[in-house]
Amino acid sequence: MSSSNEISRLLRFNPGDKVVDVDPRATPGFDGKKADGAEVQSERSARLAELQELLYANHKARGDHRSILLVLQGMDAAGKGGIVKHVVGAVNPMGVRYTAFGKPTEEELAHHYLWRIRKALPPTGHIGVFDRSHYEDVLIVRVHNLVPPDVWEPRYDEINAFERELVAGGTTVVKVAMFISLDEQKQQLLERLDDPTKHWKYNPGDVDERKLWPKYQEAYQAMLDRTSTEYAPWHVVPCDRRWYSRLAVTELLIEALERLDLSWPPADFDIEAERRRLLET
Ligand code: ATP
Ligand code: MG
Repeated sequence: MSSSNEISRLLRFNPGDKVVDVDPRATPGFDGKKADGAEVQSERSARLAELQELLYANHKARGDHRSILLVLQGMDAAGKGGIVKHVVGAVNPMGVRYTAFGKPTEEELAHHYLWRIRKALPPTGHIGVFDRSHYEDVLIVRVHNLVPPDVWEPRYDEINAFERELVAGGTTVVKVAMFISLDEQKQQLLERLDDPTKHWKYNPGDVDERKLWPKYQEAYQAMLDRTSTEYAPWHVVPCDRRWYSRLAVTELLIEALERLDLSWPPADFDIEAERRRLLET
């Protein structure tokens, strides 16, 4: 991967970008092959783990109030599960708050759509992971007309205001839109059918969603156009090559953490005196 400073710039969604122009097979910022990817991945995972520990340590020892929120959005089989397992899985679970957002329950539906989201926000010092998110309320909800347009339409602005407030409170919001091609999705779903250990992941409804691809593209376009803000920009991550998407999300998290400029909290006790005391026991 080129310097980590570049990846968020390379992948950032800028107003005017078109979803139909995204090449899901691309590997921006990384010109290596899959094998090189594996080597870099293990190195960068170690760096990510170290930075996460720094974040946690600063919260514990210095009362640092900051946190990170990783928002993962993508079509079925885009690889959200793989990001959680391989990227987030590389850091200490103690410092992670993971939440998957499925179809809302009766109770959730009785509340404002941000109710369940607010409850799942990362505590200070933690990395929150949203596996799907409040953006479902302008994606599937829009595509399936689950509520009328005059209800989902104001949500873009509302979500921006919500995220602005999060950022002001010390949360860095890292938004990742995962792009898989229709064809690669088919391959992934076929693999699930062919492998008995993956049948649990197969959802017949995913085949019906495939027919709505153009409507989803339209909904993604609107989401990106309207909610990629200065304070919480979207990153478009090509996902047909899974090794790449994992590396890219790892780098995005590393960058976000490095921007916090953390250092190891110094001892608030006399180290030499403690050493003597300890050795006497
Ligand atoms: P995956 O995210 O990998 O598809 P899954 O299929 O196992 O996981 P489910 O618990 O079935 O997860 O939930 C995912 C489904 O819930 C998706 O189809 C998603 O679009 C839908 N969903 C999430 N949030 C909402 C929402 N606010 N309104 C309606 N549907 C939603
Ligand atoms: Mg699913």
